[in-house]
Amino acid sequence: MSGVGKALRFTRGLRFRLAFSYVFFFTILLVLLGIIFRQTLTSIFQAQVLSILDEEWVTAKGYLRTTDAGPDWFHDPKDPDEAFTVQRLHRVYLLADTEGHVLQSSVIYDSIGKDSKDQIKAILKSGKTATRLGYDKQGIPYLIRSGLMIDETGNRYYLAIGRAVDQNNRVVRDFTRNYFWVVPIVIVFTGVLGWFLAGRALDPVNSVAETAQRITHSNLDMQIPLRRVGDELDRLIEAFNHMMTRLNLSFEQIRQFSTDVSHELRTPLTVVRGQLEVALFTAKTTEQYREAMVNALEDVDRLSNIVRALLMLSQAESGQLLLQRTQLDFAELLRDQVDQYQIPAEAQGVDLTAAELPSACVIYGDKIQIERMVSNLLGNAIKYTPAGGRVVARLAVEAGLVKFTVEDTGVGISPDHLPHIFDRFYRVPSADPEKGLGLGLSFVSWIVKAHGGVVSVESELHKGTRFTVSLPAGPVDLDLRESPALPLSEQVH
Ligand code: ADP
Repeated sequence: MSGVGKALRFTRGLRFRLAFSYVFFFTILLVLLGIIFRQTLTSIFQAQVLSILDEEWVTAKGYLRTTDAGPDWFHDPKDPDEAFTVQRLHRVYLLADTEGHVLQSSVIYDSIGKDSKDQIKAILKSGKTATRLGYDKQGIPYLIRSGLMIDETGNRYYLAIGRAVDQNNRVVRDFTRNYFWVVPIVIVFTGVLGWFLAGRALDPVNSVAETAQRITHSNLDMQIPLRRVGDELDRLIEAFNHMMTRLNLSFEQIRQFSTDVSHELRTPLTVVRGQLEVALFTAKTTEQYREAMVNALEDVDRLSNIVRALLMLSQAESGQLLLQRTQLDFAELLRDQVDQYQIPAEAQGVDLTAAELPSACVIYGDKIQIERMVSNLLGNAIKYTPAGGRVVARLAVEAGLVKFTVEDTGVGISPDHLPHIFDRFYRVPSADPEKGLGLGLSFVSWIVKAHGGVVSVESELHKGTRFTVSLPAGPVDLDLRESPALPLSEQVH
Protein backbone atom coordinates (compact mmCIF):
# COMPACT_ATOMS: atom_id res chain seq x y z
CA MET A 1 0.00 0.00 0.00
CA SER A 2 1.26 3.48 -0.83
CA GLY A 3 2.20 5.99 1.86
CA VAL A 4 -0.86 8.11 1.09
CA GLY A 5 -3.11 5.06 1.27
CA LYS A 6 -1.64 4.09 4.62
CA ALA A 7 -2.09 7.61 5.95
CA LEU A 8 -5.71 7.62 4.75
CA ARG A 9 -6.39 4.30 6.42
CA PHE A 10 -4.80 5.53 9.60
CA THR A 11 -6.86 8.72 9.72
CA ARG A 12 -10.07 6.79 9.02
CA GLY A 13 -9.38 4.45 11.94
CA LEU A 14 -11.72 4.67 14.89
CA ARG A 15 -8.84 5.17 17.30
CA PHE A 16 -7.52 8.16 15.40
CA ARG A 17 -10.97 9.67 15.02
CA LEU A 18 -11.79 9.25 18.72
CA ALA A 19 -8.47 10.77 19.84
CA PHE A 20 -8.77 13.52 17.25
CA SER A 21 -12.31 14.49 18.29
CA TYR A 22 -11.20 14.49 21.91
CA VAL A 23 -8.24 16.80 21.18
CA PHE A 24 -10.30 18.97 18.83
CA PHE A 25 -13.07 19.64 21.33
CA PHE A 26 -10.61 20.09 24.15
CA THR A 27 -8.68 22.66 22.11
CA ILE A 28 -11.83 24.61 21.29
CA LEU A 29 -12.81 24.51 24.96
CA LEU A 30 -9.39 25.75 26.12
CA VAL A 31 -9.28 28.56 23.56
CA LEU A 32 -12.81 29.66 24.50
CA LEU A 33 -11.93 29.56 28.20
CA GLY A 34 -8.78 31.60 27.50
CA ILE A 35 -10.77 34.23 25.62
CA ILE A 36 -13.39 34.38 28.38
CA PHE A 37 -10.68 34.72 31.10
CA ARG A 38 -8.95 37.44 29.12
CA GLN A 39 -12.18 39.38 28.60
CA THR A 40 -13.09 39.05 32.28
CA LEU A 41 -9.66 40.23 33.37
CA THR A 42 -9.82 43.21 31.01
CA SER A 43 -13.29 44.21 32.22
CA ILE A 44 -12.26 43.88 35.89
CA PHE A 45 -9.24 46.14 35.33
CA GLN A 46 -11.31 48.62 33.36
CA ALA A 47 -13.96 48.74 36.08
CA GLN A 48 -11.22 49.33 38.65
CA VAL A 49 -9.72 52.26 36.71
CA LEU A 50 -13.17 53.71 36.07
CA SER A 51 -14.01 53.63 39.74
CA ILE A 52 -10.68 55.38 40.55
CA LEU A 53 -11.49 57.99 37.88
CA ASP A 54 -14.94 58.44 39.43
CA GLU A 55 -13.36 59.11 42.80
CA GLU A 56 -10.91 61.57 41.28
CA TRP A 57 -13.75 63.32 39.48
CA VAL A 58 -15.50 63.96 42.79
CA THR A 59 -12.22 65.11 44.34
CA ALA A 60 -11.57 67.45 41.41
CA LYS A 61 -14.92 69.15 42.00
CA GLY A 62 -13.75 70.09 45.53
CA TYR A 63 -10.63 71.83 44.26
CA LEU A 64 -11.90 73.71 41.22
CA ARG A 65 -12.98 77.32 41.74
CA THR A 66 -13.48 80.28 39.45
CA THR A 67 -11.77 83.58 40.17
CA ASP A 68 -11.64 86.76 38.14
CA ALA A 69 -8.58 85.36 36.39
CA GLY A 70 -10.53 82.27 35.37
CA PRO A 71 -10.71 78.72 36.75
CA ASP A 72 -8.16 77.69 39.31
CA TRP A 73 -7.33 74.75 41.60
CA PHE A 74 -7.33 75.50 45.30
CA HIS A 75 -5.93 73.34 48.08
CA ASP A 76 -4.41 73.67 51.47
CA PRO A 77 -0.68 74.13 50.81
CA LYS A 78 0.12 72.74 54.25
CA ASP A 79 -1.66 69.46 53.62
CA PRO A 80 0.73 67.14 51.70
CA ASP A 81 -2.15 64.76 50.87
CA GLU A 82 -4.14 67.48 49.12
CA ALA A 83 -1.03 68.67 47.29
CA PHE A 84 -0.40 65.15 46.12
CA THR A 85 -4.00 64.62 45.02
CA VAL A 86 -4.08 67.82 42.97
CA GLN A 87 -0.71 66.99 41.49
CA ARG A 88 -1.95 63.57 40.47
CA LEU A 89 -5.09 65.09 39.00
CA HIS A 90 -2.99 67.39 36.91
CA ARG A 91 -0.92 64.64 35.36
CA VAL A 92 -3.51 63.85 32.73
CA TYR A 93 -6.24 66.46 32.43
CA LEU A 94 -7.87 69.02 30.22
CA LEU A 95 -10.16 71.86 31.22
CA ALA A 96 -12.23 73.75 28.68
CA ASP A 97 -15.12 76.18 28.76
CA THR A 98 -18.55 75.14 27.56
CA GLU A 99 -17.78 76.58 24.11
CA GLY A 100 -14.94 74.10 23.69
CA HIS A 101 -12.04 76.51 24.23
CA VAL A 102 -9.26 74.69 26.03
CA LEU A 103 -8.32 76.61 29.16
CA GLN A 104 -5.79 74.25 30.77
CA SER A 105 -4.25 70.92 29.82
CA SER A 106 -1.38 68.72 30.98
CA VAL A 107 1.59 67.75 28.82
CA ILE A 108 0.54 64.12 28.71
CA TYR A 109 -2.99 65.06 27.67
CA ASP A 110 -1.55 67.20 24.88
CA SER A 111 0.47 64.22 23.78
CA ILE A 112 -2.68 62.07 23.69
CA GLY A 113 -4.42 64.78 21.68
CA LYS A 114 -6.67 67.56 22.78
CA ASP A 115 -10.40 67.16 22.31
CA SER A 116 -11.79 69.24 19.47
CA LYS A 117 -14.43 71.88 20.06
CA ASP A 118 -17.04 69.75 18.39
CA GLN A 119 -16.18 66.73 20.51
CA ILE A 120 -16.41 68.80 23.67
CA LYS A 121 -19.72 70.34 22.64
CA ALA A 122 -21.14 66.94 21.70
CA ILE A 123 -20.21 65.43 25.07
CA LEU A 124 -21.61 68.41 26.96
CA LYS A 125 -24.78 68.30 24.90
CA SER A 126 -25.27 64.61 25.66
CA GLY A 127 -25.34 65.48 29.37
CA LYS A 128 -23.43 62.29 30.19
CA THR A 129 -19.85 61.51 31.06
CA ALA A 130 -17.85 59.91 28.28
CA THR A 131 -15.12 57.31 28.58
CA ARG A 132 -12.51 56.70 25.90
CA LEU A 133 -9.15 55.07 25.43
CA GLY A 134 -6.33 57.23 24.12
CA TYR A 135 -2.60 56.70 23.49
CA ASP A 136 0.20 59.20 24.08
CA LYS A 137 3.16 59.65 21.76
CA GLN A 138 5.02 56.76 23.43
CA GLY A 139 2.05 54.53 22.88
CA ILE A 140 1.05 54.33 26.55
CA PRO A 141 -2.71 53.77 26.82
CA TYR A 142 -4.89 56.03 29.01
CA LEU A 143 -8.49 55.68 30.03
CA ILE A 144 -10.07 59.11 29.91
CA ARG A 145 -13.26 60.24 31.60
CA SER A 146 -14.76 63.52 30.45
CA GLY A 147 -17.93 65.53 30.93
CA LEU A 148 -19.55 68.56 32.47
CA MET A 149 -18.00 69.83 35.71
CA ILE A 150 -19.79 72.49 37.78
CA ASP A 151 -17.31 73.97 40.24
CA GLU A 152 -17.91 75.15 43.80
CA THR A 153 -18.85 78.57 42.55
CA GLY A 154 -21.44 77.20 40.14
CA ASN A 155 -19.50 77.77 36.90
CA ARG A 156 -19.73 75.20 34.13
CA TYR A 157 -16.66 73.63 32.50
CA TYR A 158 -15.67 70.70 30.41
CA LEU A 159 -13.22 68.50 32.32
CA ALA A 160 -11.35 65.41 31.13
CA ILE A 161 -9.13 63.37 33.45
CA GLY A 162 -7.23 60.22 32.59
CA ARG A 163 -5.22 57.41 34.01
CA ALA A 164 -2.57 55.20 32.44
CA VAL A 165 -3.75 51.61 32.00
CA ASP A 166 -0.50 50.18 30.59
CA GLN A 167 0.13 48.19 33.78
CA ASN A 168 -3.23 46.50 33.51
CA ASN A 169 -2.77 45.86 29.81
CA ARG A 170 0.59 44.30 30.52
CA VAL A 171 -0.94 41.93 33.05
CA VAL A 172 -3.60 40.94 30.50
CA ARG A 173 -0.93 40.50 27.82
CA ASP A 174 1.24 38.40 30.12
CA PHE A 175 -1.72 36.27 31.06
CA THR A 176 -2.64 35.75 27.41
CA ARG A 177 0.92 34.88 26.43
CA ASN A 178 1.40 32.44 29.28
CA TYR A 179 -2.02 30.88 28.76
CA PHE A 180 -1.54 30.32 25.04
CA TRP A 181 1.92 28.92 25.67
CA VAL A 182 0.50 26.35 28.05
CA VAL A 183 -2.44 25.44 25.77
CA PRO A 184 -0.36 23.62 23.08
CA ILE A 185 1.48 21.69 25.80
CA VAL A 186 -1.84 20.67 27.38
CA ILE A 187 -3.18 19.76 23.93
CA VAL A 188 -0.19 17.57 23.14
CA PHE A 189 -0.60 15.93 26.53
CA THR A 190 -4.36 15.34 26.03
CA GLY A 191 -3.63 14.07 22.53
CA VAL A 192 -1.31 11.41 23.94
CA LEU A 193 -3.81 10.63 26.68
CA GLY A 194 -6.68 10.50 24.18
CA TRP A 195 -4.70 8.18 21.91
CA PHE A 196 -3.93 5.90 24.83
CA LEU A 197 -7.52 5.90 26.17
CA ALA A 198 -9.04 5.34 22.71
CA GLY A 199 -6.58 2.47 22.22
CA ARG A 200 -7.63 0.91 25.50
CA ALA A 201 -11.33 1.33 24.75
CA LEU A 202 -10.89 -0.26 21.32
CA ASP A 203 -8.67 -3.11 22.44
CA PRO A 204 -11.59 -5.52 22.87
CA VAL A 205 -12.88 -4.59 19.40
CA ASN A 206 -9.52 -5.58 17.96
CA SER A 207 -9.58 -8.86 19.81
CA VAL A 208 -13.12 -9.51 18.50
CA ALA A 209 -11.88 -8.73 14.98
CA GLU A 210 -8.90 -11.07 15.42
CA THR A 211 -11.14 -13.90 16.61
CA ALA A 212 -13.55 -13.25 13.76
CA GLN A 213 -10.66 -13.45 11.33
CA ARG A 214 -9.64 -16.85 12.67
CA ILE A 215 -13.11 -18.23 11.89
CA THR A 216 -13.25 -20.30 8.74
CA HIS A 217 -15.78 -22.78 7.40
CA SER A 218 -14.09 -25.52 9.42
CA ASN A 219 -14.42 -23.87 12.82
CA LEU A 220 -17.77 -22.14 12.57
CA ASP A 221 -18.61 -23.33 16.07
CA MET A 222 -15.98 -20.97 17.45
CA GLN A 223 -17.35 -18.40 19.90
CA ILE A 224 -15.79 -15.17 21.09
CA PRO A 225 -15.54 -15.22 24.89
CA LEU A 226 -17.83 -12.67 26.58
CA ARG A 227 -16.11 -10.08 28.79
CA ARG A 228 -19.14 -10.09 31.12
CA VAL A 229 -19.13 -6.37 31.80
CA GLY A 230 -22.53 -5.94 30.11
CA ASP A 231 -21.39 -3.08 27.87
CA GLU A 232 -22.09 -2.42 24.18
CA LEU A 233 -19.18 -4.59 23.21
CA ASP A 234 -20.55 -7.54 25.13
CA ARG A 235 -23.83 -7.06 23.28
CA LEU A 236 -21.92 -6.97 20.00
CA ILE A 237 -20.05 -10.16 20.91
CA GLU A 238 -23.32 -11.80 21.91
CA ALA A 239 -24.95 -10.82 18.62
CA PHE A 240 -21.88 -12.03 16.76
CA ASN A 241 -21.91 -15.37 18.60
CA HIS A 242 -25.62 -15.83 17.87
CA MET A 243 -24.98 -15.07 14.24
CA MET A 244 -22.18 -17.66 14.21
CA THR A 245 -24.47 -20.24 15.82
CA ARG A 246 -27.12 -19.61 13.18
CA LEU A 247 -24.55 -19.70 10.40
CA ASN A 248 -23.11 -22.87 11.78
CA LEU A 249 -26.56 -24.44 11.84
CA SER A 250 -27.24 -23.38 8.27
CA PHE A 251 -23.86 -24.69 7.11
CA GLU A 252 -24.50 -27.90 9.00
CA GLN A 253 -27.89 -28.27 7.32
CA ILE A 254 -26.43 -27.58 3.89
CA ARG A 255 -23.61 -30.05 4.52
CA GLN A 256 -26.12 -32.60 5.72
CA PHE A 257 -28.30 -31.83 2.73
CA SER A 258 -25.46 -32.32 0.25
CA THR A 259 -24.74 -35.67 1.86
CA ASP A 260 -28.42 -36.61 1.75
CA VAL A 261 -28.88 -35.47 -1.83
CA SER A 262 -25.85 -37.36 -3.05
CA HIS A 263 -27.03 -40.40 -1.10
CA GLU A 264 -30.55 -40.00 -2.38
CA LEU A 265 -29.38 -39.67 -5.97
CA ARG A 266 -26.70 -42.34 -5.77
CA THR A 267 -28.95 -45.18 -4.72
CA PRO A 268 -31.41 -44.99 -7.63
CA LEU A 269 -28.53 -44.26 -10.00
CA THR A 270 -26.70 -47.42 -8.87
CA VAL A 271 -29.91 -49.40 -9.12
CA VAL A 272 -30.61 -48.09 -12.63
CA ARG A 273 -27.06 -48.87 -13.65
CA GLY A 274 -27.31 -52.39 -12.18
CA GLN A 275 -30.63 -53.06 -13.88
CA LEU A 276 -29.36 -51.86 -17.24
CA GLU A 277 -26.11 -53.84 -16.92
CA VAL A 278 -27.96 -57.02 -15.99
CA ALA A 279 -30.33 -56.47 -18.91
CA LEU A 280 -27.45 -55.85 -21.27
CA PHE A 281 -25.54 -58.98 -20.28
CA THR A 282 -28.27 -61.42 -19.36
CA ALA A 283 -31.60 -60.47 -20.96
CA LYS A 284 -32.56 -62.61 -23.85
CA THR A 285 -36.17 -61.92 -24.60
CA THR A 286 -37.90 -58.63 -25.42
CA GLU A 287 -39.97 -59.16 -22.27
CA GLN A 288 -36.86 -59.22 -20.09
CA TYR A 289 -35.54 -56.04 -21.72
CA ARG A 290 -38.91 -54.39 -21.24
CA GLU A 291 -39.04 -55.27 -17.56
CA ALA A 292 -35.53 -53.91 -16.97
CA MET A 293 -36.40 -50.71 -18.76
CA VAL A 294 -39.66 -50.22 -16.83
CA ASN A 295 -37.82 -50.68 -13.52
CA ALA A 296 -35.10 -48.30 -14.63
CA LEU A 297 -37.73 -45.75 -15.67
CA GLU A 298 -39.36 -45.89 -12.25
CA ASP A 299 -36.06 -45.06 -10.59
CA VAL A 300 -35.35 -42.34 -13.13
CA ASP A 301 -38.78 -40.91 -12.24
CA ARG A 302 -37.86 -40.88 -8.57
CA LEU A 303 -34.61 -39.12 -9.45
CA SER A 304 -36.34 -36.49 -11.49
CA ASN A 305 -38.87 -35.94 -8.71
CA ILE A 306 -36.09 -35.18 -6.29
CA VAL A 307 -34.34 -32.87 -8.71
CA ARG A 308 -37.61 -31.13 -9.55
CA ALA A 309 -38.44 -30.63 -5.88
CA LEU A 310 -35.04 -29.08 -5.26
CA LEU A 311 -35.31 -26.83 -8.25
CA MET A 312 -38.80 -25.70 -7.36
CA LEU A 313 -37.93 -24.92 -3.78
CA SER A 314 -34.97 -22.86 -4.81
CA GLN A 315 -37.14 -21.03 -7.36
CA ALA A 316 -39.85 -20.48 -4.74
CA GLU A 317 -37.40 -19.14 -2.21
CA SER A 318 -35.74 -16.84 -4.70
CA GLY A 319 -39.14 -15.48 -5.79
CA GLN A 320 -39.05 -16.92 -9.32
CA LEU A 321 -42.01 -19.23 -8.87
CA LEU A 322 -45.19 -17.26 -9.55
CA LEU A 323 -48.58 -18.41 -8.36
CA GLN A 324 -51.28 -19.09 -10.93
CA ARG A 325 -54.25 -18.15 -8.79
CA THR A 326 -57.86 -18.89 -9.58
CA GLN A 327 -61.02 -19.42 -7.58
CA LEU A 328 -61.02 -22.96 -6.34
CA ASP A 329 -63.07 -25.08 -4.02
CA PHE A 330 -60.82 -26.18 -1.19
CA ALA A 331 -63.43 -28.67 0.10
CA GLU A 332 -63.54 -30.48 -3.23
CA LEU A 333 -59.76 -30.42 -3.57
CA LEU A 334 -59.39 -31.87 -0.06
CA ARG A 335 -61.94 -34.62 -0.73
CA ASP A 336 -59.96 -35.64 -3.86
CA GLN A 337 -56.67 -35.67 -1.97
CA VAL A 338 -58.08 -37.71 0.90
CA ASP A 339 -59.44 -40.20 -1.67
CA GLN A 340 -56.03 -40.44 -3.33
CA TYR A 341 -54.29 -41.07 -0.02
CA GLN A 342 -56.66 -43.90 0.96
CA ILE A 343 -54.47 -46.53 -0.71
CA PRO A 344 -51.18 -45.59 1.03
CA ALA A 345 -53.10 -45.10 4.30
CA GLU A 346 -54.58 -48.57 4.06
CA ALA A 347 -51.19 -50.00 3.17
CA GLN A 348 -49.84 -48.46 6.34
CA GLY A 349 -52.85 -49.58 8.41
CA VAL A 350 -53.88 -46.01 9.17
CA ASP A 351 -57.47 -44.80 9.21
CA LEU A 352 -57.67 -41.65 7.07
CA THR A 353 -60.86 -39.58 7.15
CA ALA A 354 -62.07 -36.14 6.19
CA ALA A 355 -64.37 -34.71 8.84
CA GLU A 356 -66.60 -31.65 9.02
CA LEU A 357 -65.98 -30.69 5.39
CA PRO A 358 -68.24 -27.85 4.28
CA SER A 359 -70.04 -28.49 1.00
CA ALA A 360 -68.01 -25.73 -0.66
CA CYS A 361 -65.19 -23.52 0.50
CA VAL A 362 -63.80 -21.12 -2.07
CA ILE A 363 -60.34 -19.72 -1.86
CA TYR A 364 -58.30 -17.76 -4.34
CA GLY A 365 -55.22 -19.84 -4.87
CA ASP A 366 -52.87 -21.81 -7.06
CA LYS A 367 -54.46 -25.25 -7.45
CA ILE A 368 -51.22 -27.13 -7.98
CA GLN A 369 -49.52 -25.53 -4.99
CA ILE A 370 -52.53 -25.95 -2.68
CA GLU A 371 -52.68 -29.62 -3.72
CA ARG A 372 -48.97 -29.93 -2.99
CA MET A 373 -49.46 -28.38 0.45
CA VAL A 374 -52.39 -30.71 1.31
CA SER A 375 -50.58 -33.74 -0.07
CA ASN A 376 -47.41 -32.99 1.93
CA LEU A 377 -49.36 -32.67 5.16
CA LEU A 378 -51.49 -35.77 4.55
CA GLY A 379 -48.46 -37.75 3.33
CA ASN A 380 -46.44 -36.83 6.44
CA ALA A 381 -49.35 -37.61 8.77
CA ILE A 382 -49.69 -41.09 7.26
CA LYS A 383 -45.91 -41.61 7.09
CA TYR A 384 -45.38 -40.73 10.75
CA THR A 385 -48.40 -42.60 12.12
CA PRO A 386 -47.90 -46.26 12.97
CA ALA A 387 -50.44 -48.93 12.04
CA GLY A 388 -53.71 -48.68 13.94
CA GLY A 389 -53.52 -44.91 14.15
CA ARG A 390 -55.86 -42.26 12.79
CA VAL A 391 -55.45 -39.26 10.54
CA VAL A 392 -58.26 -36.70 10.32
CA ALA A 393 -58.40 -33.78 7.91
CA ARG A 394 -60.79 -30.91 8.77
CA LEU A 395 -61.84 -27.74 7.02
CA ALA A 396 -63.81 -24.82 8.46
CA VAL A 397 -64.49 -21.19 7.60
CA GLU A 398 -64.13 -18.81 10.53
CA ALA A 399 -64.13 -15.02 10.43
CA GLY A 400 -63.00 -14.70 6.84
CA LEU A 401 -60.37 -17.42 7.28
CA VAL A 402 -60.29 -20.91 5.90
CA LYS A 403 -58.92 -23.19 8.57
CA PHE A 404 -57.49 -26.47 7.42
CA THR A 405 -56.17 -28.98 9.98
CA VAL A 406 -54.48 -32.34 9.69
CA GLU A 407 -54.44 -34.27 12.92
CA ASP A 408 -52.75 -37.60 13.51
CA THR A 409 -52.19 -40.02 16.37
CA GLY A 410 -48.60 -40.68 15.27
CA VAL A 411 -45.13 -40.52 16.71
CA GLY A 412 -45.29 -36.79 17.48
CA ILE A 413 -42.40 -34.34 17.45
CA SER A 414 -40.35 -33.46 20.52
CA PRO A 415 -40.27 -29.79 21.60
CA ASP A 416 -36.54 -29.65 20.70
CA HIS A 417 -37.27 -30.28 17.06
CA LEU A 418 -40.64 -28.59 16.76
CA PRO A 419 -39.33 -25.05 16.08
CA HIS A 420 -37.15 -26.30 13.21
CA ILE A 421 -39.37 -28.61 11.23
CA PHE A 422 -40.32 -25.90 8.71
CA ASP A 423 -36.64 -25.17 8.05
CA ARG A 424 -35.26 -26.24 4.73
CA PHE A 425 -33.66 -29.74 4.86
CA TYR A 426 -34.55 -30.20 8.52
CA ARG A 427 -35.44 -33.74 9.51
CA VAL A 428 -36.09 -35.18 12.92
CA PRO A 429 -33.34 -37.80 12.86
CA SER A 430 -34.85 -40.78 14.69
CA ALA A 431 -38.47 -40.29 13.65
CA ASP A 432 -37.80 -40.94 9.96
CA PRO A 433 -39.20 -44.32 9.05
CA GLU A 434 -38.69 -43.53 5.36
CA LYS A 435 -35.98 -41.30 4.07
CA GLY A 436 -37.29 -37.88 3.16
CA LEU A 437 -35.34 -34.82 2.11
CA GLY A 438 -36.73 -32.55 4.78
CA LEU A 439 -38.19 -30.32 2.10
CA GLY A 440 -41.92 -31.13 2.39
CA LEU A 441 -42.70 -28.72 5.23
CA SER A 442 -40.48 -26.02 3.73
CA PHE A 443 -42.80 -26.21 0.71
CA VAL A 444 -45.88 -26.11 2.92
CA SER A 445 -44.55 -23.06 4.71
CA TRP A 446 -43.68 -21.26 1.47
CA ILE A 447 -47.03 -22.08 -0.20
CA VAL A 448 -49.05 -20.90 2.81
CA LYS A 449 -47.02 -17.69 3.07
CA ALA A 450 -47.36 -16.98 -0.65
CA HIS A 451 -51.15 -17.26 -0.26
CA GLY A 452 -51.12 -14.75 2.59
CA GLY A 453 -51.76 -17.36 5.30
CA VAL A 454 -50.04 -18.87 8.31
CA VAL A 455 -49.22 -22.41 9.32
CA SER A 456 -48.76 -23.66 12.86
CA VAL A 457 -48.08 -26.97 14.53
CA GLU A 458 -48.84 -28.53 17.89
CA SER A 459 -47.40 -31.89 18.81
CA GLU A 460 -46.88 -34.24 21.69
CA LEU A 461 -44.29 -36.97 21.51
CA HIS A 462 -45.84 -40.46 21.07
CA LYS A 463 -49.35 -38.95 21.08
CA GLY A 464 -49.76 -37.13 17.81
CA THR A 465 -49.44 -33.96 15.80
CA ARG A 466 -51.80 -31.30 14.49
CA PHE A 467 -50.92 -28.94 11.64
CA THR A 468 -53.20 -25.92 11.20
CA VAL A 469 -53.19 -23.83 8.04
CA SER A 470 -55.15 -20.55 7.98
CA LEU A 471 -55.75 -18.98 4.58
CA PRO A 472 -57.74 -15.91 3.71
CA ALA A 473 -61.13 -16.94 2.32
CA GLY A 474 -61.72 -15.58 -1.17
CA PRO A 475 -59.32 -13.34 -3.09
CA VAL A 476 -56.60 -11.45 -1.27
CA ASP A 477 -54.70 -8.39 -2.46
CA LEU A 478 -51.40 -10.18 -2.04
CA ASP A 479 -49.92 -11.38 -5.32
CA LEU A 480 -52.91 -10.20 -7.35
CA ARG A 481 -50.62 -8.90 -10.05
CA GLU A 482 -49.28 -12.45 -10.45
CA SER A 483 -52.72 -13.78 -11.19
CA PRO A 484 -54.56 -11.60 -13.64
CA ALA A 485 -56.86 -14.52 -14.51
CA LEU A 486 -59.80 -13.16 -12.58
CA PRO A 487 -61.41 -9.71 -12.83
CA LEU A 488 -61.93 -8.21 -9.37
CA SER A 489 -65.72 -8.09 -9.73
CA GLU A 490 -65.91 -11.85 -10.17
CA GLN A 491 -63.78 -12.62 -7.18
CA VAL A 492 -65.50 -14.38 -4.36
CA HIS A 493 -65.18 -13.01 -0.82
P1 ADP B 1 -39.54 -35.18 5.21
O1 ADP B 1 -39.50 -35.22 3.75
O2 ADP B 1 -38.31 -35.70 5.86
O3 ADP B 1 -40.78 -35.75 5.78
P2 ADP B 1 -40.66 -32.67 6.00
O4 ADP B 1 -40.14 -31.28 5.79
O5 ADP B 1 -41.95 -33.00 5.41
O6 ADP B 1 -39.52 -33.63 5.57
O7 ADP B 1 -40.74 -32.86 7.58
C1 ADP B 1 -39.70 -32.52 8.42
C2 ADP B 1 -39.66 -33.36 9.65
O8 ADP B 1 -40.81 -33.11 10.44
C3 ADP B 1 -39.69 -34.83 9.34
O9 ADP B 1 -38.37 -35.33 9.34
C4 ADP B 1 -40.48 -35.42 10.47
O10 ADP B 1 -39.62 -35.92 11.46
C5 ADP B 1 -41.27 -34.29 11.05
N1 ADP B 1 -42.70 -34.43 10.77
C6 ADP B 1 -43.41 -33.85 9.77
N2 ADP B 1 -44.72 -34.18 9.84
C7 ADP B 1 -44.85 -34.97 10.93
C8 ADP B 1 -45.97 -35.63 11.56
N3 ADP B 1 -47.20 -35.53 11.07
N4 ADP B 1 -45.71 -36.37 12.66
C9 ADP B 1 -44.48 -36.46 13.17
N5 ADP B 1 -43.38 -35.88 12.63
C10 ADP B 1 -43.56 -35.13 11.53
